[in-house]
Amino acid sequence: MSCLFCKIIEGTIPSTTLYQDELCYAFADIDPKAPVHILIAPREHIASMAEAGRTDSALLGHLMWAAARIARANNLDKGYRVVVNTGPDGGQSVDHLHVHLLGGRAMAWPPG
Ligand code: AMP
Ligand code: ZN
Repeated sequence: MSCLFCKIIEGTIPSTTLYQDELCYAFADIDPKAPVHILIAPREHIASMAEAGRTDSALLGHLMWAAARIARANNLDKGYRVVVNTGPDGGQSVDHLHVHLLGGRAMAWPPG
């Protein structure tokens, strides 16, 4: 498997683990865009939101729940942003579905 995030999840490539369970793995973004920038990826390889099927809906919900749990654990009481970049126009650079959890500063809207 040549996927970067699959290698991170299996431990072949090092990362800073911030949360994990049987369905997902969360780790620090190597190039943070906010004081808190955490990536939450399913253990199962799904290339993007566009590839997710109906049978993945519970897993997608779990990623959202995990983001909220991790936000609480990181004291993001003033709020945070959850982002899923999808495909070229969405700015996705790693083709393994992942949720960005960004916090620790006020976010601008609309995003770029
Ligand atoms: P995206 O552009 O939405 O696909 O997000 C990919 C994210 O992965 C970017 O924010 C990168 O900074 C991050 N990233 C790339 N390589 C690594 C790595 N080895 N460890 C942690 N984060 C990474
Ligand atoms: Zn993968």
